[in-house]
Amino acid sequence: MQNNTLFRTLLLCGCFASLLVSCSSDGGDNPPPTPPPSNTGILSQFDSGNRAMMQAFYWDVTPQGEWYNTIKPKLEDWATAGIDRIWLASPAKGQSGGYSMGYDPSDYFDLGEYDQHGTVKTRFGSKAELLSLIDTAHKLKIGVVADIVLNHNSGGGLEDNPHRGKKTYTLFDQTHGNASGKFNRNYEMYHPNSIHNNDEEALFFEEQDVCHHQEYVQDWFWKSENSVAKYYKNTIGFDGWRFDYVKGFGAWVVKEWMQEVGGFAVGEYWDGYAPNIAKWVNDAGIAAFDFACFYKMEEAFDRHKDLSYLDRDMLRKIDASKAVTFVANHDTEKDDNQDNRIARSNKMKAYAYILTHSGYPTIFYGDYESSFKSEVQNLLNIHKSIAKGTETNLHTDKNTYIMRRNGEGNNPGLILYINISNQKQTRTVATNWKQKRLKDYSKHTNEGVTTDADGMATISVPANSYTIWSLAE
Ligand code: ZN
Repeated sequence: MQNNTLFRTLLLCGCFASLLVSCSSDGGDNPPPTPPPSNTGILSQFDSGNRAMMQAFYWDVTPQGEWYNTIKPKLEDWATAGIDRIWLASPAKGQSGGYSMGYDPSDYFDLGEYDQHGTVKTRFGSKAELLSLIDTAHKLKIGVVADIVLNHNSGGGLEDNPHRGKKTYTLFDQTHGNASGKFNRNYEMYHPNSIHNNDEEALFFEEQDVCHHQEYVQDWFWKSENSVAKYYKNTIGFDGWRFDYVKGFGAWVVKEWMQEVGGFAVGEYWDGYAPNIAKWVNDAGIAAFDFACFYKMEEAFDRHKDLSYLDRDMLRKIDASKAVTFVANHDTEKDDNQDNRIARSNKMKAYAYILTHSGYPTIFYGDYESSFKSEVQNLLNIHKSIAKGTETNLHTDKNTYIMRRNGEGNNPGLILYINISNQKQTRTVATNWKQKRLKDYSKHTNEGVTTDADGMATISVPANSYTIWSLAE
């Protein structure tokens, strides 16, 4: 009964929301929007230069081949919000055809163009739809990042494999999972082969673990004019790369790829220990997802409910310029992963953290296109204006965390106050501003706060929430 009532309420809310949308978007005779009240604060006066990346897919997007068309109309809104890159799923045709999320690549040159594995389109759409999406993104000055799976393949035909003494699915040609006919492969391109038994790291996809030491593989992946890297960059129009599962091969592979095509690049070095990620970043020469930051937030907000975990090691503290921070991704949000994720009830505190601290933040599609949207937009607005300068920790205990971003030049910076207790919290802290009126840009309080002649201010934060303070005018 109670569930029924809740369900009806949700339905009603849904109808109301769509009414609102249709009212505001019917164009034509509407009066111009009312100008905002005079005290909107200072955000519009500053550009920190900070932008963010949108992870523009989630695990199990509807397998209709309509995903590129689904996100294209959203790009303008994302650009306005402060998104300067979108990360697309691996575009190559995978063994599971129209159901493939891209991590079982079969034909790197079939981006929704050839009829194989039961479909012409990929799960996300056709090559023409991908090109149209990229074109729209570029007009909005949004870079497009391709997910690149170099570690393993899937979907080839059976052949005799002398290195294994049995038949293996390692034959890729025009009639075996590689309709494009480019980068045909056989057992020699996988481990074990006549060069060695395995590469630097453990085998992942046992039979189809790609050998990057083969000249032929290097030529097709990145070196030759017809390589995957150059085709994706020069013909398709990708601007950057998200390298999948980089623990599966040497960092030199990424380094050589980047020497050929350049662009923005981030690696999925899945490791919670910041110095390990930092070492890989140093070896590969590109950025990495800050899994250390992710796990410290998960421990601080969810697992241990102790914000002192935020004071521990993260990649962004070692090298912010190479740290891509995130709160959720396609893996953490899988239905069967309830443990290694940041709970919905804590997500916005985590977004407040990554969008006020250093690092290049990723916004997860499923979080943005949800009831969190306006709050994420507000945080992005803070991120692109006053999240600037060095960081000073003002206070940490189990329940509360206060950080001052010191600003730069005439950019005043901000103070972030997070609270995971069930009571409102208040603390007097040292600001960089003397005898100034402050405003909480999180919109969670509207208390008047003024700093004294020494710059001290008494700020507060509601229970289980965060506030973000800066100059009111
Ligand atoms: Zn090898």
